[in-house]
Amino acid sequence: MSEEITFFGFEREADRYEDWASCLREFLDSGMLHSSGSSFTTRLESEFAAWLGRRHAVAVSSGTEALRLGLEVLALPPGEVIVPAFTFQACAAGIVRNGLTPRFVDIDPISLQLDPAAVARAVTERTVGILPVHLFGIPAPVDRLKQIADQHGVPVLEDCAQAVGAAVGQDKVGTFGTVAAFSCGPTKPLGGLGEGGIIVTDEESHDAYLRRARHNGALRDFRHELVGANAMMDSLQSAFLLHRLSELDEQLDARRAIVERYRRVIGEEPAVTIVGASRDDMLAAPSKFTVLLSGALDRDGVVTMLADRGVPANLFYRTPLHRQECFRGKAEAEDLPVTDDVAARVLSLPLHPFLSEHQVDWLAEQFVLTVRKAMDR
Ligand SMILES: *Cc1c(COP(=O)(O)O)cnc(C)c1O
Repeated sequence: MSEEITFFGFEREADRYEDWASCLREFLDSGMLHSSGSSFTTRLESEFAAWLGRRHAVAVSSGTEALRLGLEVLALPPGEVIVPAFTFQACAAGIVRNGLTPRFVDIDPISLQLDPAAVARAVTERTVGILPVHLFGIPAPVDRLKQIADQHGVPVLEDCAQAVGAAVGQDKVGTFGTVAAFSCGPTKPLGGLGEGGIIVTDEESHDAYLRRARHNGALRDFRHELVGANAMMDSLQSAFLLHRLSELDEQLDARRAIVERYRRVIGEEPAVTIVGASRDDMLAAPSKFTVLLSGALDRDGVVTMLADRGVPANLFYRTPLHRQECFRGKAEAEDLPVTDDVAARVLSLPLHPFLSEHQVDWLAEQFVLTVRKAMDR
């Protein structure tokens, strides 16, 4: 391939310089440099809430802050929050930063999402919440998790950072939990040109709390009712994200088409399992194209062989959270055999809406050739 393919395709945004320049122009003309009271943020919040189907959206500085504040607004009593260990660090960090204890629970080996049976077994009187993550844009079985949570009278907080536009039945993910958190970081399908996040809820009181909490605890006039943080979404990022939201559905379709194209070439390869939704009534909004390699293969060796051919692969996530230094002594976990097995075999290939059909076919073919060669070793 003459043109280098990168994992996220960030360099391709330069091809759309005019689009982004017009957002910047509008931003500068508005004089709305201050994030507090930004009309770009207000518009983004109402358009996103309408697009998703929730009453309130509050834009914040990152997905990490969306998770932390999303838990804070629930004001949970001390105890454990059930969360997968096969995910990004921020999912459990928000729990710890709220003075709560992550309880790591195992995942389904096909979808790599929280396993409802394991969650049901892990619930005790110490459980104060359930935090499913819709990893890779594949829906977690959030309807079943919600049932378990309702039976025990605890809330669900959904992490939709990688799954904007995914659905279970007719309902988009992010509409099941009492609160849900989204990321608008650049690697995410609703990504800006920098950092950002959004919290959604149907409760007026949550909305009111979050608007203060993200703005040093004050809504106006330097009257600080809470000790908050500066966790506002940057006004310029809101201007960019309004543009991204307008093209989101189209980009999600492009992502789905790329996954189908990968499947056509890779789907029959015996040493490879493509990660996908575990139920027919689930619609993925793929943020990553993720596979599991046969245990007979040296996964890290395959990554090196791919790199030599110009195929960038990435490992989300090679070290699960129950093995991360930062959670030592701060979290509870039993054996997580599926999580450990998956972390040793997982691999993701590039998936972004700028990949051409030709590039996807080439990536898929190189991947298959590499796997076959590695099998022969
Ligand atoms: C990216 C991500 C986050 C954190 O979002 P940031 O915007 O990067 O802070 C949280 N959870 C998951 C699953 C993510 O992928």
